[in-house]
Amino acid sequence: MSQSIPKQRLRLTIKGAVQGVGFRPFIYRLAIELGLVGWVNNSSLGVFIEVEGNDRTLETFQGRIWQEKPPRSRIQSIEASYLDLVGYENFEIRASVGGEKTAVVLPDMATCPDCLQEIFDPNNRRYRYPFTNCTNCGPRYSIIEALPYDRPNTTMKSFQMCGKCQSEYENPLDRRFHAQPNACPICGPHLELWDTEGKVVAAGDRAIKATADAIREGKILAIKGLGGFHLIIDAGNKSAIEQLRQRKKRPQKPFALMYPSLDLVKEHCLVSQLEENLLSSPEAPILLLKRKTLSATPSTEIAPGNPYLGVMLPYTPLHHLLMAELGFPVVATSGNISNEPICIEETEALQRLKEIADLFLIHDRAIVRPLDDSVVRVMMGKEAILRLARGYAPFSKVENNTISESPHPHILAVGAHLKNTVAIALKNRIFISQHVGDLATTAAFESFKKVIGTLAQLYEFKPTIVACDAHPDYLSSQFAQQLKLPVVRVQHHYAHVLSCMAENEIEPPVLGISWDGTGYGLDGTIWGGEFIYVGGDNWQRIARLDTFRLPGAKQAIKEPRRVALGLLYELFGDDLFTQKNLLPLQAFSDRELKIVKTMLHKNLNTPVTSSVGRLFDGVSSILGIRQIASFEGQAAMELEFAIEDIETNEHYDFKLINCENTPLVVDWAAMLHDILSDLKYGLPTEEISAKFHNSLVEIIVAIAKHTKERKIVLTGGCFQNNYLTRRAIDRLKQENFHPYWHQTIPPNDGGIALGQIIAALRK
Ligand code: ZN
Ligand code: ZN
Ligand code: FE
Repeated sequence: MSQSIPKQRLRLTIKGAVQGVGFRPFIYRLAIELGLVGWVNNSSLGVFIEVEGNDRTLETFQGRIWQEKPPRSRIQSIEASYLDLVGYENFEIRASVGGEKTAVVLPDMATCPDCLQEIFDPNNRRYRYPFTNCTNCGPRYSIIEALPYDRPNTTMKSFQMCGKCQSEYENPLDRRFHAQPNACPICGPHLELWDTEGKVVAAGDRAIKATADAIREGKILAIKGLGGFHLIIDAGNKSAIEQLRQRKKRPQKPFALMYPSLDLVKEHCLVSQLEENLLSSPEAPILLLKRKTLSATPSTEIAPGNPYLGVMLPYTPLHHLLMAELGFPVVATSGNISNEPICIEETEALQRLKEIADLFLIHDRAIVRPLDDSVVRVMMGKEAILRLARGYAPFSKVENNTISESPHPHILAVGAHLKNTVAIALKNRIFISQHVGDLATTAAFESFKKVIGTLAQLYEFKPTIVACDAHPDYLSSQFAQQLKLPVVRVQHHYAHVLSCMAENEIEPPVLGISWDGTGYGLDGTIWGGEFIYVGGDNWQRIARLDTFRLPGAKQAIKEPRRVALGLLYELFGDDLFTQKNLLPLQAFSDRELKIVKTMLHKNLNTPVTSSVGRLFDGVSSILGIRQIASFEGQAAMELEFAIEDIETNEHYDFKLINCENTPLVVDWAAMLHDILSDLKYGLPTEEISAKFHNSLVEIIVAIAKHTKERKIVLTGGCFQNNYLTRRAIDRLKQENFHPYWHQTIPPNDGGIALGQIIAALRK
């Protein structure tokens, strides 16, 4: 080699999402092309590179890493240092090494176009093979047991690669170089179709065809996919839908659909360019899309009274093969019993789903952790994640140095009760788990503990401090107390605000509009209509919705008609019960009404709340839209949907009551009186609903003006409401405020764990 130009050794440490995305072969090809010598390897910290060459080539090398990095990779940092020459002779890819576990674990990725083409090519050796994958696609988080991401650390370890797969795996120029789940029909996982006894009915490709036949016949299929089991039926078969609803004890909650093609989605739904991109993305979420008309296919039983459909495209070769066979949309709902985590293992599925499914399509690639389908909707022309799970989890985030400076670098946040997620913080990184679900059943609580366990195991994480909700009765809070660690108890609505601040990377001071259904208040009431001011090192509830009572407590959450009576009782007292024309009253029998009246009159079992979510429920009932809810958020959703395409700037009056040393109170009595009179004079429900929504937005603007804080954060479950969020953002901008909202972190309680981490750091 020529010695005329002086050479140097460059060492690079690249951190970020750089494992399992073809980073090392990319570096290999680049180094060979530039004539550099040295090596690259993977560690649990990231990718390490050492190359020797002259200054100019080394500079080009670094520049091209940034410019040409593999599409699925995300570089967070590159550290470079120059060292003395070692005198390497060639460039090689070295074996992975262990070490500290802060590397980013990649989420699972939908089948890439190259693999898709192969499974439908009769001349390809992977023709119709349902477990085809490569470095650009396939399972990741669902199969990884430990870091670094190498085959022996995944559930693919039990499959010995055949000669052909092995040589693909070892060839740096192959698309499957170091593709850890690499497999083919000879050496990889296989399918079997089981009956409810676990007896094999069909295997291999015949299992796919038999599954398709059964779906066409109206059977309910439990199908093991990427992150767990789905329950799948023909979306056009009304009696199958009815049967599934009955067996799953899910009378009205919308079902998600899987479509065979984007073209068919476009026939049934309105799809923007961004929505099209999201459907076809490697994350392949369930996307909420507006249906073209309510009468068209698929049947309204999929999502009763709902103008939106939850739609996804096939995201594994198995789904592609099955959907191509069928050619029509199917219901693809989580393989679970209501409120339990999804099944991930076949014998467990046989047990737990035996009352629901007629047949089980299973395979022998083990799933390490349950991952539901993620749910996304486009709001304000941007992606907004409502459920963070498959394709997005684990979510990782760098916190600008705050964590490394903190005396408590290892924080576990256990989240809230509904839509639970957990989060951990180590060094300057925060990892947020996938959606765990509502911690309402033993199975869900077990799953919650497992998620914490596997996150801790993956990152060799030992918490030194634990953050939980201030609610003492939440199972998550009780779990936190039992860890025998210092506990930071974080008020729910403050956590919501911090999570939105962290997501948007904004610093205090901030005014947070924290609106949801329920959160433990610090004054003995249930909060949910809160205006939280976050200062440099403090926070304060500066305003709140005026309170009302919830007759029957928990029962009121399921029955908007009870909430309505709680609201109306504040206006009319006992006289309320003489106003027989009110729709919520008509929704009760005389006997039931007597009980509720006694509750309100004697103040029995009627907790006090300032919740905006409950206000939505109550108004929904007053307008006769929903008296008894079949799932969380139904009444509020239907109130939003009632607006349809009404355009109005009208709103109702409200008062702000200022008392010394207490939060400002938003008095809604005038608004409720006006709603009743609009209703009496026959104003259409859609207009009343629009005026109600507009009033809430004007309340936000009024408090913002009162506080004079420019940065306004919109957070909490109420901001899943598209109309409310869109209008609040528009109005705040009009008034020269700077609104921030959620996009990558759910506005609902799925974001609480992140907020708890930040709260612990601020302490
Ligand atoms: Zn692929
Ligand atoms: Zn093979
Ligand atoms: Fe909440």
